[in-house]
Parts: sequence; structure tokens; C-alpha cells
Amino acid sequence: MLRVYRDEDADLTTLEGKRVAVIGYGNQGRAQGLNLRDSAIDVVVGSIRDASAERARADGFAVASIAETAAGADVVMLLIPDEVQRDVYDRELSQTLQGGNTLVFAHGYNVRFRLIKPPDDVDVVMLAPRMIGKVVRDLFVSGSGAVAYVGVHQDPSGNAMATALALAKGIGATRSAVIEQSFAEETELDLVMEQAVDSALHQVLVTAYEGLVEAGFAPEVVAMELYASRELAETMKEMAEVGFFEQMRLHSQTSQYGSLAYAESVLPTEHYRQQIRQRLSAVRSGEFAREWAEEERGGYKRFNQLRDAALAHPLNDTERRLRAMTADENAADT
Ligand code: NDP
Repeated sequence: MLRVYRDEDADLTTLEGKRVAVIGYGNQGRAQGLNLRDSAIDVVVGSIRDASAERARADGFAVASIAETAAGADVVMLLIPDEVQRDVYDRELSQTLQGGNTLVFAHGYNVRFRLIKPPDDVDVVMLAPRMIGKVVRDLFVSGSGAVAYVGVHQDPSGNAMATALALAKGIGATRSAVIEQSFAEETELDLVMEQAVDSALHQVLVTAYEGLVEAGFAPEVVAMELYASRELAETMKEMAEVGFFEQMRLHSQTSQYGSLAYAESVLPTEHYRQQIRQRLSAVRSGEFAREWAEEERGGYKRFNQLRDAALAHPLNDTERRLRAMTADENAADT
């Protein structure tokens, strides 16, 4: 049974007299740090000396090194990129964390794949907003909150979930909904979404672009039709707001018929189901985590090749022309 927590299930006084160290002041660090401070929680920022540290200072936070900040805190929120967490943990946190501390992750990857193994006497929890940091902040300021997952990996104090829920309330998530997920569930689902859903969407849009341009349509118009007009983004927004199938009524009957009638022949269900099973199996067995660790050790060679090829795709030039065209049109309007 899915457990869902709201404001009344979380108690900010759990964090009274406690200091929260936000490690990393980027997408999530800034949003969560500001929201927690506005919820009257004592927040300090730990960062390397970089632009993020300057931004945190400009926002009025006390900023110190990662190890120093963590040493003076009760709750340590690791809000740096997943790829660097293990190194930073080994260097700055492994000797610093004390029994009774709480270590908080915003994504379960490093714990799920045992790349970080915190000491047994430290509570380990997850608070993972399902939203980019900027919107976590904007929603909070507007009086609402981003949906988030919470989970407990280890709970020597017996208080881990109460702490996680208090933090969730502090960032505004319980104003919306906080859903309990294990580190494994959150990580596996996130990876399968990236590898079997985002990848499929990517493939569909790029291949459709190539095929339609080859058939003689103007590249700018194809890009516009596929995603650049934002109609697709608006449709997805409507899916979330009124319902996946209900939003179809916003489109013509011809459009509804076309998408329902040809889905199966364009992407056969059984074939796609099989792809999802395969990606899930590679994620669950740790095969993908090994592949990614290998990439990291090799200096991200394949990743860089893939990214370079994507950034050299003719679609990028089409977009530049499209942007110039749209800007000109706007200029002409004013
Ligand atoms: P960012 O890429 O925004 O980076 C966060 C901070 O880490 C920045 O201040 C960055 O500094 C700093 N940093 C980068 N490299 C290092 C390093 N080697 N040592 C110390 N600090 C470093 O991260 P996110 O906020 O996107 O991600 C943080 C966590 O939140 C991750 O676990 C991620 O999975 C999770 N998450 C992210 C979401 C998102 O919206 N992006 C959504 C939900 C969860 P600098 O300015 O120098 O780069």
C-alpha cells in the first residue's frame, strides 16, 4: 500500500535546535536551502570555492568548506551531482559524520548501488523532489510545493522518517504530496524512465525529424511541428492536469483517431514491453551501474562521443534558424 504524507503528518519541531548543512548550492541545493531557511530551520551551506559558494553568500548564507560545514551539523543534505558524491563523501564526509547525524540524499543511486556506505550509527534518508530546483523554489514561494519521495535506508535513531518528513515539510513538499519509496524503487524507476521512456521519446522525435525532412518538408516547420511550437509541452501539461486520455478532447477528432488507431502498428506493444523489461533487468542487476562506472573511469569517452554527435546533428542548425525567424517575427510584431 502506497503511503502518502501531507502537512499534518510532518512536524517541523523535529528539527528544532538542529543545524542542517546543505552541501552543494546548485539546482536543488539553492531551492531546498532557501525553502528550509524560510521554514525557520537553521541552514548552513558547505561548498567548494566556486560560483555556487558566492551565490549562497549573496543569498545570505554562512558558507564554509564541505567538511567544516558537515562537522557542525546534525543533518547533512548531499546536494551535489551524483557522479561526484562518492569522491566527496570519501574525502570530506566519511571521517566527519558522527553517530546520531542524518545523511540525506536527493536520489538513491549511490546508496542503491552501494557506492556510498554510511556508518551504521548514522540515519540515512532520501528526500527526492520530482521537480527541477527552480520550480521547487517557485512553488514554495507561491504557497504550494513540489511532489517528493521520501525513504529510509537506515534508522539507528528510530527517528529517521520523522526527520525526513520534517525536511519534506520544510521544503514545501508536504503541502502537495510526499510519497514513500525505498532507495531501490526510486533509483530503478528513475533509471528506467531515462533509459526506456526518455530515450524512446528522443528516438521518435529525431527519427521523425529525419524522415519528414527527407520527404521534403521544411526542416524549420518539422521542428516546429514536433516540439518547437511547445504544443507537445502543453499537451503533456494537460495530461498531468486533466488526464492522459481526457486531454485528447482538446484535439480534433481526426487527430484523436490518428493517434489511437496507429499507435500499435507504429510501436508494437509487445516489442516495447520487451525493451522496458530488458532495461529494468540491466538496472536491477547492476549491469548499468557497472557500465556507467566504467564510463567514468575511462573519462566518459563514449558519453562524450554520443553527446558530440547529438550536438552536431542538423537539427541544431535548424533550431538556430528557427530562433532567428521567430525573433524576427516578434520584432516585426512590435
Ligand atoms: P547540480 O549539478 O546543480 O550541482 C550542485 C552543486 O554541486 C553545485 O553547487 C556544484 O557547484 C557542486 N559541485 C559540482 N561538482 C562538485 C564537486 N566535485 N565537489 C563539490 N561540489 C561540486 O546538482 P543538482 O542540484 O542537479 O543535483 C543534486 C542532487 O539532487 C543529485 O543527487 C540529483 O540526482 C538530485 N536531484 C536533482 C534534481 C534536479 O532538478 N536537477 C531533481 C531531483 C533530484 P558548481 O557551481 O561549481 O558546479
